[in-house]
Amino acid sequence: MKIDCHMHTPLCGHANGSPSEYVEWAARKRLQLVTFTCHIPMDMGGFGNTGIRMKVKHLPKYFQIVDAARRVGERLGVEVLCGIEAEIYPDEQVLAPMDDTLKANDFDFILGSLHHFIPRYQDRLRAAHARTDFQKVETYFEDLANGAATGRYHSISHPDVIRIYGTVSHFDPADHEPSIRRFLAEVVTADICMEVNTSGFIKESRQVHPDPLILDWASEMGVKLTIGSDSHNPQSVGQFYETVLPLLKEKGFTHLHYHRAGNRIAIPIET
Ligand SMILES: [Zn+2]
Ligand SMILES: [Zn+2]
Repeated sequence: MKIDCHMHTPLCGHANGSPSEYVEWAARKRLQLVTFTCHIPMDMGGFGNTGIRMKVKHLPKYFQIVDAARRVGERLGVEVLCGIEAEIYPDEQVLAPMDDTLKANDFDFILGSLHHFIPRYQDRLRAAHARTDFQKVETYFEDLANGAATGRYHSISHPDVIRIYGTVSHFDPADHEPSIRRFLAEVVTADICMEVNTSGFIKESRQVHPDPLILDWASEMGVKLTIGSDSHNPQSVGQFYETVLPLLKEKGFTHLHYHRAGNRIAIPIET
C-alpha cells in the first residue's frame, strides 16, 4: 500500500488544482490513500496569512471540496482523508484560537509545522536573541521539540525546513546533533510521528526533509514516520517516492503510518 499524507487545496491561495484532480493523480501513481492537509486558518494574524492560508469561514468549503474528492476516490480505489496542517509556535496563548478550530472540527490527521519565515517567528527569534545561524537553528529545534511534546499534533512536518527560505544561510545537522536528538526524543515520548516530506527535492537544498543524517538518528531512536509530498499541484502527489522509499528501507525503517479519525495505522514500506 502506498500513501501520501500531506497535500494542499487552492483555498490556501498558493496551490493549484482541485482536490479531485489530486486524487486522479494519486490513482495514476498507484497510491491507495491520500490525506489532504491544507494550512489551518490563523485569523488572529501574524502567521503570513494572505496567500498562505484560508480563513475560518472557508472551512465548510474545505470539507466540501475534500468530500467531492472522496467520492472521486471511491470510484478510483483511493481512500481520501481530511487532515489539516496546523502551526507550532512557542507561545501557547497565541495558539488558543487555532485550538478552537481543532476542537470544533473532526480532522483525521493533524500535522504540526513550524513555519520559521512568518513574521511572528522572526519576532520570536529576535526576542530570544538568536542572532547567528547556529543560535537560530538551536532555537528552532528547541521550539520544535516543545511543539512535539504538547501532543497536539499527530506528526511533525518537514522537521528541518529551517534550512530553506532564508532565515539561515548555513545548516548542517551534524552541528546540532544534541538539539535535534532532543526533538526526536520528544516525538518518541509523545508517541507521535515525524514526517518524511519529499517536497525538499524541489526546493533550494534538493534533499528530502529531514536530512538523511537526521533519518539515521530517527531510525536508531525508534521514531515513527508519516510520509507526504506536500503537493501544491496535482502532479506532485507521490513525488520522489521512487528515491525516498528505498532510502527509508536502507535506513532501517520498516513501516509508515497514516491516521484515520486520529487513530494511527502502520503499513509496511513498499518500494
Ligand atoms: Zn503551502
Ligand atoms: Zn504543507
